[in-house]
Parts: sequence; C-alpha cells; structure tokens
Amino acid sequence: MKSTQCLEQIRPVWFSRVAASLFSNERIRQSFIEQADHFYNELIIAVDENDPSSLEPVLLEWIKNSSHSDNENRESILAPIANSIFLLIFEIARETFDDLDLENLFYNLLPIYSFANDYIYRHEMEYIVRRILLNVEQLNKASKMVNQSKTDFVSVAAHELKTPLTLLKGYTTMLNELLSVTDVQKQAEIYLNGIEVGYNRLLEIVNDLIDVSMIDNNILPIVYQPVWIHQLFSTIKLEIADISQDRNLNITIKNFPGSEEMSYGDGERLLQAFRKLIFNAIKYTPDGGMVIVDGRPLPGFVEITIKDTGIGIDPKDHLRIFEKFGRLGNPSLHSSGKTKFKGGGPGLGLSITKGIIEAHGGAIWVESVGYNEDTCPGSTFHVLLPMRKELPNDKTTLFSQWASMDINDHS
Ligand code: ADP
Repeated sequence: MKSTQCLEQIRPVWFSRVAASLFSNERIRQSFIEQADHFYNELIIAVDENDPSSLEPVLLEWIKNSSHSDNENRESILAPIANSIFLLIFEIARETFDDLDLENLFYNLLPIYSFANDYIYRHEMEYIVRRILLNVEQLNKASKMVNQSKTDFVSVAAHELKTPLTLLKGYTTMLNELLSVTDVQKQAEIYLNGIEVGYNRLLEIVNDLIDVSMIDNNILPIVYQPVWIHQLFSTIKLEIADISQDRNLNITIKNFPGSEEMSYGDGERLLQAFRKLIFNAIKYTPDGGMVIVDGRPLPGFVEITIKDTGIGIDPKDHLRIFEKFGRLGNPSLHSSGKTKFKGGGPGLGLSITKGIIEAHGGAIWVESVGYNEDTCPGSTFHVLLPMRKELPNDKTTLFSQWASMDINDHS
C-alpha cells in the first residue's frame, strides 16, 4: 500500500487519540482541532511529493498561536507536542500495518518528522527570544522613566524648594541684624513680607506634592456638594483682574449654556483645577495675548474649553504634560513665578488637575498644533465634566478609604 493511503487509513484513529491525549493547553488544543485536518492533508502532500515544505504554513500558525499563549517558562512547548503527534502516527501505524507497509511508511515519514521537529524548534526559539528582547526593552523603558522621575524630583527639590528656603534664611538674617537698629518698623515689615512669600511658596509646593501622592494612590478625597461652574469662574475672575492688567492680556470668561446649572462636585477641588488651567494659559501667553474660557452642554456632561494665544505645545508632549514633573523646557530656567510669562513651576499642576477631573468621572486633554514662541499658535485645554443632578452613591467611599488607610499599605 502507498504511504499516502496508509496515512489516510489511520487518520480517524490518529485524530481522536491525539485530540484526547495531548493538549492540556486549551488554546493550543483549540487551534490544533481547527487545523488538524489541514495539517494532516499537508502531511499527506509532503509524503506524496517527498517535500516537507508544504507543512511550513500550518506549523508556523501553531508556533504563532503558542507564542501568544501563557508560555511564561520560556521553553519550547510546541516541539514536544509535535514530537508526540508524529510518534502517535508511528504507534498507530505499527498496530495497523504489516512490516512492508510499515517500513515504507517510516521511510517516507522520517525525513518529514525530522524537518518538522527542527522547523518548530528553530522558529519557536526565535519567537521566545524576540519576546524576551521585547520584555527587556519594556523593562529598560520603565527603568528609564523611573530614573527620569527621580532626576525630576531632585531637580524640583533642588530648585523649587531651595528658592523659598533661601528667601526665608535671607530675610530672617536681615531681621536679626535689624534688631539692633532703633527705628525698625518699616524695614521689619518688608522683611517679614519676604519671609511670608517664601513660606507660602513652600507650603504650595508641599501641598502639591501631597495632592500628587493622594492621586497616585487613588485616595484623593472628593467632597460632593452643589456646584455652579459660573460661580467658580467668577471667583477666578476676581483673582486675575490685576494680573490681566499688568500683563496686558485680554481675558474673557463666558457664561455658556450649562454653566449656570447646578451639579454635584467638589467646589474647592474644581476651583483648584480650573484656576491652574487659567493661570497656565496666562503664564504661557505673551503680554498682549488672549485667553478665552468657554463651554457647551453635552448629554450628561458639560465641556469647558480654556483657549489661549500662547506659545503652544508640541503634539508629542500632549500626554506628557499631564504626568507629574511633566514640565517642558530647561528646569534650571524655571522661576516659580505664577503668572510671569513662561514663569514655570515644578510641573505638578496639570497632573493634579487631571487627577481632580478624573476623580469626578471627567476627562481632560489638550489641543495645540505645536510649540512656537515666535508665531504663538496657542493651546486649547478641554475639560469634560459630568453634570450630576444627584449625589453619587459612593460619595463617601474615597473618604472612608482614606480615613481607614494603613499608611504602610501602598497596594
Ligand atoms: P508647571 O508647574 O511647569 O506650569 P504644569 O503641570 O502646570 O507645570 O504644566 C506642565 C507643562 O505644560 C508646563 O511646563 C508647560 O510647558 C506646559 N503647559 C501647560 N499649560 C500650557 C499652556 N497653556 N500653553 C503652553 N504650554 C503649557
């Protein structure tokens, strides 16, 4: 009997035995069952043509499937399976055929068996090596980011924290020297004011660091209460009145549809978020520029936009600026000015803003065609905020989580 006929004859037995016994891995079993007929057809063609290459596509498909499976031990899992598949053919053939047919079949099948084993082993190893390299690359990236974060922290600590400390030290020394002078009143006021400025700046940075850490740990408390967006903006309007004059900026805050409707939210936190966005718009827009706050109602949400005619943001940085320490440019040039043109800061503001908006179930993103200090293409920050007509059921969850938190548990 021809070898191909022998193979046809034992096909049903082989199929039932192989499917029942071999595959503990459900994914490979499924893929095998789907392709078993195909594999067997190709095997018969390979035997008929005495050319094992017709098996390549089906073997490659198995390798791909098994490489996506949960093979974490980085060993070949398919080579032993392929080996067993062929051994089962030999075993069934031995039970079924006489010596002549058997010898003929073995003679034709052995080179194909050896080819398939070699092919699978080689390609599977290639896949495994590729995956290991990919893992190494990802680990490298993660470790670079951690290192960058550390460097950023050192740079923030060195610059942003040291500046107010130097202020405090300088003014305290001057105040001490002043104590020996008789008419101290006026000078003392100046120095005390300097100390207060340094103190306030330090407090702000420490508070930002605490906020960032609460956001990182998902424990930012949100105290829901009735909020009207236009009221939040009225507060900010008062705060920026002098600044817009000093910097000759045209700042418009519109009363858009939806802004006068009540919604539940944390008024203090939302004020903090919008204040940051408007102060940033001011900070990154040159004197004489424009800032427009507008919005529109959407089903269940309100969208607020803060648009400026400032220096803009390169699209490659649109995600990065929302990360902590995600400030752009040279950190040593930062001056900690809150409203001075390009008077950067520690780079925590937008990550806190994002954390606050997301804790409310909202979203924030930026739109800008690019960064250019000469042409000033501007930026538009979009905030999507849910309009909550009722208090959320889980309004106490964050609070209670926070209150009962074990400070050693960082999970
Ligand atoms: P910073 O304390 O440096 O202002 P932020 O987190 O508020 O930190 O912002 C991160 C970075 O995003 C800033 O350093 C700045 O480069 C960029 N940025 C934020 N807002 C604007 C804006 N309106 N126009 C241009 N760049 C902006």
